[in-house]
Amino acid sequence: MQRCADVPAHNEGNRDPSDFALTNKTLVCCFVCRLVKSRNQFSEMGCDNCKNLFGPSISFEDYTTPNFSGMISIMDPKTSWACKWLHLGKYVPGCYAMAVNDDVPEDLQDILENKGIKVRHG
Ligand SMILES: [Zn+2]
Repeated sequence: MQRCADVPAHNEGNRDPSDFALTNKTLVCCFVCRLVKSRNQFSEMGCDNCKNLFGPSISFEDYTTPNFSGMISIMDPKTSWACKWLHLGKYVPGCYAMAVNDDVPEDLQDILENKGIKVRHG
């Protein structure tokens, strides 16, 4: 089966899953690929798309932000027109932010520049 990202706040036993407002406050999105997961999921698993990019030395706090708007669930990135439109075609299925409303931190910018990666903000 194809690898896919955890659904935000899925399998978090310490929380009532029906309380989405509470869950929502813990969600963060990756600056690079805009994958949305909870803080716990990022701290445990890292970013499903970018973990090879960052390596173990960089904390998820450094490449995620709670300041994003909109969310879109992607089931099949290769055939979805929305994916092409949002430039998400090469990422794993999961939930993604429509737009990131935060500047990329300078440390992260340096890392990305060194690797020749441009971050696109919607
Ligand atoms: Zn990412």
